[in-house]
Order: sequence, then C-alpha cells, then structure tokens
Amino acid sequence: MRRFRYRCTVCRTTSPVTLGAADLAAETEAHRHTIHGGHIPDDEMTGEIDRLGRWYTALTPLTALHARIADELSDLHDTKTIGHYWWATAGATLLIGAGAALALLLVGSAL
Ligand SMILES: [Zn+2]
Repeated sequence: MRRFRYRCTVCRTTSPVTLGAADLAAETEAHRHTIHGGHIPDDEMTGEIDRLGRWYTALTPLTALHARIADELSDLHDTKTIGHYWWATAGATLLIGAGAALALLLVGSAL
C-alpha cells in the first residue's frame, strides 16, 4: 500500500495521508481552490511517504529501501496502522544484510 501527502509551504500545513495518487490529486486541488483561489503555491510538495510519515524523496537510498521493505512487511499484518512493527524493522534489516552478505559471497567466490 502506498501512502501520499500534500504539503503547502505557504500555509505551513500538511494534508492527511491519502492512499492513492488520485486521492492525493483531489486533496491538492481542494486545497488550492479553497485556500489559494486555484493558484499553485510556490514550493508546495507532494509525494509518497513511508509508514513513519517520512518523504521517500528525503531518504537516502539505503534508508528508502529499508523503509519500503518495512512498510510492506508491516502492511502484511495491518494496513490501517502507522509506524513499523519491530519485527518488520528487524526483518528489513535482516533482508538487506543477507543481500549484502550474498553479494559479498558471490564476489568473493568469483575472485
Ligand atoms: Zn496553502
């Protein structure tokens, strides 16, 4: 499940979490028309967030990968909650670590 938010830097407000790009577009348009008369605020932000509310574009690639895996693992248990379950965080760390170890093994065996 993908989560999105809209942030208006003029009003300094952030929308509630939306669960699809269409809902995000509706939220964005509603804010623009209601508050700004249809104008587009400078430096507004829209984008996907993880279950902790962090913008994916603001995360480093490794952190984004960890967040994506932890999001998906947490969504397996419950899609309505926010945050990561401890076991999802541990599972994501374990998967990334195992992937790195496997890559090292393959490179080491090839040399
Ligand atoms: Zn605004």
